[in-house]
Formats: sequence, C-alpha cells, structure tokens
Amino acid sequence: MAHSSRSSCSCILCSACLLGVRCRYNGKSKPYPHLQKLAQKFCLIPVCPEILGGLGIPREKAEIQKDKVITLSGKDITSAFLRGARETLKIARLLNAKVAIFADKSPSCGVHFIYDGSFTGKLIKGEGITTKLLREHGIKVFTPEDLRKSEIDKLLH
Ligand code: SF4
Repeated sequence: MAHSSRSSCSCILCSACLLGVRCRYNGKSKPYPHLQKLAQKFCLIPVCPEILGGLGIPREKAEIQKDKVITLSGKDITSAFLRGARETLKIARLLNAKVAIFADKSPSCGVHFIYDGSFTGKLIKGEGITTKLLREHGIKVFTPEDLRKSEIDKLLH
C-alpha cells in the first residue's frame, strides 16, 4: 500500500523546477509532464535547495569547482548550497522520504552529471551538493528519465 503508515511514507522529494515552479537561476521552470502523472499517485514534495539555502530568483549562474560552488562573477556561495542541502535533508527526514527525483546537471540537484566549473557548457560525471548529502543518508536520487525505466513501487519498498 502506498500510504500505509508514516514508517513507509510514499512521499517523494522532487526538484520544484521539474514540477513547473519558476525557481531556476534564470527565473524559469523545467516542467516534466511525466511527473504530473506521478503526482496523482504519489505525494511529490517540491523542494528547491538553492532557495532553501537563502538564494533568490533570479540569481547568478553557479557551478561546482572542486569542493566549492562559485558564481560566474567569482563569488563563493558554497555556504548557501550547504545550507540548502541540509534543509532539504531535514524535509526528507521529516517525511521519511526514501526517494528523490531531481533535475540533472544542477550544482544542487545534479544526479549523474554537473557542469565542469568552467562556465563553458561542458558536462562531467558528478552530482550536486544536495544529491550528495541525500545519498550519504541513504536516499535514492533519480532523474525523471531514470524513473521512466523503473517501476516506482519497487523504489519505494
Ligand atoms: Fe531546480 Fe534544484 Fe535548481 Fe532549485 S536548485 S532550480 S530545484 S535544479
């Protein structure tokens, strides 16, 4: 049963921008229609780690450089990203969420790839700051494309 108890909560964290929330650095969203169908069956909890970390909309583009997050103009905003990751983890724990569906390539939410830090559009294998923290705490993080290939029920139990 999807909603049997709090100990087997079927809440799924989801990058808010994938659900149509205009929270990206450029004030846009990245809606993914497949997720709207999923929202009819599961409780999708929209989270934007960068907003939870105290950053605004719009905001400067940022990329991961080694263990820091740096904006296009060279400002170190790592602490905001770490704060956003911790707040997102807090929400996941509150809801006992075991799965997150995140937007790939983001310095917060990246799942398989991130930009290489040169602001030239080059991707490398890697994960966002929030994705890393959630995974360290046993939460499975997927892209919407990953979920199309899997059975969501298996992921939740
Ligand atoms: Fe979307 Fe995550 Fe970026 Fe927020 S931090 S805009 S949820 S990819």
